[in-house]
Amino acid sequence: MSWQPEADLQEVLLTEAQIKTRVAEMARQITRDYDGRQLLLIGILKGAVMFLADLVRELGVKASIDFIAVSSYGSSTKSSGAVRILKDLDSSIDGKDVLVVEDIVDTGLTLQYLVNTLKARKPRSLKMAALLDKPSRRKVDVNVDYLGFQIPDKFVVGYGLDFNEDYRHLPYVAVLKPELYREVD
Ligand code: 5GP
Repeated sequence: MSWQPEADLQEVLLTEAQIKTRVAEMARQITRDYDGRQLLLIGILKGAVMFLADLVRELGVKASIDFIAVSSYGSSTKSSGAVRILKDLDSSIDGKDVLVVEDIVDTGLTLQYLVNTLKARKPRSLKMAALLDKPSRRKVDVNVDYLGFQIPDKFVVGYGLDFNEDYRHLPYVAVLKPELYREVD
């Protein structure tokens, strides 16, 4: 029998259709803001892959893409706050219009670290896009220029977001059953 992800999920927070509509809206806004310019999208691996892939295909401006990987939660579901670069960008961002594409902003520590690191590399401009935001968990103030959805403080998976590398390929965003991760929390 095929895999039944529903058995591991508490509820679907955002359907495939809701995500598609919102990503298209975000792309229209970004297209307006960057009219006539060339954009470099920097996806944060691996969670932002689906979001970036859908977003860039809706853009009406010239765009290139690059990726950066930073250390994340590992197998736990709580942020340690320690961030380091695991895979750096392929090329220089000097003088470029850069948009960092993130899956979810939780404490804000990852984005804060990346903003500071990337700013030092002298881009022409630097903005942030995040699909999801958990404002109640914020530890540091970060400015997200393009935000998809605010969600409650629940651990979510799907549309790029994983738990122990599983569930990334679900086309929707869902809350994982807490009993599945409690033991490694
Ligand atoms: P922050 O540094 O803002 O606390 O955390 C950002 C990163 O934590 C995200 O890029 C993501 O990898 C991970 N994260 C935060 N909340 C969740 C969640 O609800 N589900 C999953 N799968 N990852 C999360």
